[in-house]
Amino acid sequence: MLVANRGRGLLEATAVVADEMLQALRLSRERSRHPRSQQDVTYRAPVGSVDLKAFDDDGNSYEIHACHDCLPWHAEVVVVEGEVLVREWHAVGCPQFQDLIQG
Ligand SMILES: [Zn+2]
Repeated sequence: MLVANRGRGLLEATAVVADEMLQALRLSRERSRHPRSQQDVTYRAPVGSVDLKAFDDDGNSYEIHACHDCLPWHAEVVVVEGEVLVREWHAVGCPQFQDLIQG
């Protein structure tokens, strides 16, 4: 009886592991179908811009670092309605850019 129960528990555990492996496999297949790298972030990618504050509330300037996620990144200083802003250009598919325009 005890042995039978143990055997059954083992079977159930094996089924759970197999199920998890199947899900992981499905997930990795899903990811390879839609990899993040499919987004065009090359120099020829379409670009979009986002205007960011140049100074914090205390008047300290923000540091600007090149984007590590796309190649067309560049920045320019613009004045909009009397306020100095930093306009960053990224590939439209750049994850950083997507974060900036959604946040
Ligand atoms: Zn970028």
